[in-house]
Amino acid sequence: MEDCIFCKIVKNEIPSIKIYEADKVLAFLDINPHNKGHTLVITKDHHETFDKLPKDILTDMIKVTQNVAKAVVEATSCHGFNIIMNNHKSAGQLVPHVHFHVVPRFDKDGVAGRWKTKKYDEGEMNEYAKGIKKRL
Ligand code: AMP
Ligand code: ZN
Repeated sequence: MEDCIFCKIVKNEIPSIKIYEADKVLAFLDINPHNKGHTLVITKDHHETFDKLPKDILTDMIKVTQNVAKAVVEATSCHGFNIIMNNHKSAGQLVPHVHFHVVPRFDKDGVAGRWKTKKYDEGEMNEYAKGIKKRL
């Protein structure tokens, strides 16, 4: 896609620090890391969000993400790691080209806290379950 930063990275039109490249997937360092070693795993073709990904690409992407996570853990000696994907603006997606964040985490690094939680009304939990289940 013409105006997409990540497509430009795939085509080497803008610089990046690449970590791994396969047929359908690319991994490179995030330019604004939450912790040093924060790596992005993207599809080489332009797809916006997780739900739209063809299954074969999804499989490759997940496998590469696991390998990258192992490598990041070893290279940074981090205590934990987050795999994060934001989908659409309301979920915090800034670059509309599907990507996993692999974020190394350290005890008390202050990078992120727990997400806020909500409460279901009486019976609502079953209604949500029904609505989701019937679409699977
Ligand atoms: P998201 O909010 O999930 O869309 O995350 C987009 C990520 O892309 C952010 O963490 C940015 O720091 C990162 N990013 C944006 N531009 C570049 C770039 N040119 N090279 C590396 N990472 C980038
Ligand atoms: Zn793109």
